[in-house]
Amino acid sequence: MTRSAVWHPFTQHALEPPMRRIVETEGAYLIDEDGNRILDAISSWWVITHGHRHPAIVKAIATAAEQYDQLIFAEYTHAPAEELAEALLALAPPGLKHVFYSDSGSTAVEVALKMALGYFANSGSGRNRIAVMEHGYHGDTIGTMSAGERGVFNAAYEPLLFGVDRLAFPEPGREQETLDAFERVCRSGDVAALLLEPLVLGAGGMKLFAPSLLAELQAIAQRHGTLLIADEVMTGWGRTGTVFACEQADVTPDILCTSKGLTGGALPLAATLCSAEIFDAHLSTDRRKTFFHSSSYTANPIACAAAVANLDIWRDEPVLARVGALADMHRERLSRFALDERFRNIRQIGTIAALDLNTETSGYLADAGPRLRAFFRKRGLLIRPLGNVIYLMPPYCVTAPELDRAYEAIDEAASLVGAAA
Ligand SMILES: *Cc1c(COP(=O)(O)O)cnc(C)c1O
Repeated sequence: MTRSAVWHPFTQHALEPPMRRIVETEGAYLIDEDGNRILDAISSWWVITHGHRHPAIVKAIATAAEQYDQLIFAEYTHAPAEELAEALLALAPPGLKHVFYSDSGSTAVEVALKMALGYFANSGSGRNRIAVMEHGYHGDTIGTMSAGERGVFNAAYEPLLFGVDRLAFPEPGREQETLDAFERVCRSGDVAALLLEPLVLGAGGMKLFAPSLLAELQAIAQRHGTLLIADEVMTGWGRTGTVFACEQADVTPDILCTSKGLTGGALPLAATLCSAEIFDAHLSTDRRKTFFHSSSYTANPIACAAAVANLDIWRDEPVLARVGALADMHRERLSRFALDERFRNIRQIGTIAALDLNTETSGYLADAGPRLRAFFRKRGLLIRPLGNVIYLMPPYCVTAPELDRAYEAIDEAASLVGAAA
């Protein structure tokens, strides 16, 4: 068999089985060339919110493609970008005033970091350090890797990554240590911003912390004039039970990053929202204070039209009720594992459910991961554990019987794989 020329992401080609070829996506399913329907229980890496190919989004894309392709976003603007910015600011936590477009979660975070550093540079301050939370994940570019958890993923690039102030993850009962550590680094006076994923650290293992802690971190930041950057790339668009996770803490960050579910998952697009103060710090007759950032596909009109359609869905359909129902379904099904010694740290927030398999080894390279994936694949389920962390994050159209299938498979997999570990 000849090997494909395609190099896939996060894939060790020497160990993986051949890629399955998908010919169609629909609702909660990927459909392969043999007609097998695979339940997409992780929303295709967390991007699909309502379901694959929501008709209104498909239609918006088709209509926009009749009118636009890419067009330069300096000197010129277009209706989809303008409409989307208005709608986004109306839906986001109150107080955010400007929208900068890019095309992925990583770029949304890079833009946020540059906005924060630019804010201080343009205000004549030398603040340039970034504080982050242990186990954080913000993308795979050099800047976002610097801010994220260090490990096997980025060991090879370590010499090029910049230093950050890393706060211990607020494990239950040890929240005060995180707060004290943040207070300490803020006192140095050079922390420009605290960058974190609000309420759920996703790729770091679906680790949850309380809204009250987010509010307390913001209070400390405000006391020290440190900016708060919320990376809502994964948590946005209903995943945690509210449109944005920050809402649950009544927190408006200074900068908010969104991408994954922004177009309902249909097309790549990202937005970095910021306060008036940050925009105003770049507003000057001095051209050196310009925000020097762009990507070729900034504010792609077709992607913006898809996002406008997504926001219309949020306005016109009972999306939060669906999210609430999905949260209830998770809760009922997770309860069967409560006293099950094969698992620990059973947890759930909104549409995300996670549990750790009780294996000897944990971490991303834990042996259990690939064996679990193979098991789920045979069952027609797309579930990709993060090491020994098994999680479900399905699109909101998933039904109770479909979710039952996923939970049954987790139950069986734990016995098969757990026993062998
Ligand atoms: C996925 C993710 C990113 C990176 O987004 P990409 O579109 O993959 O670049 C950044 N932050 C968080 C919290 C994410 O989950």
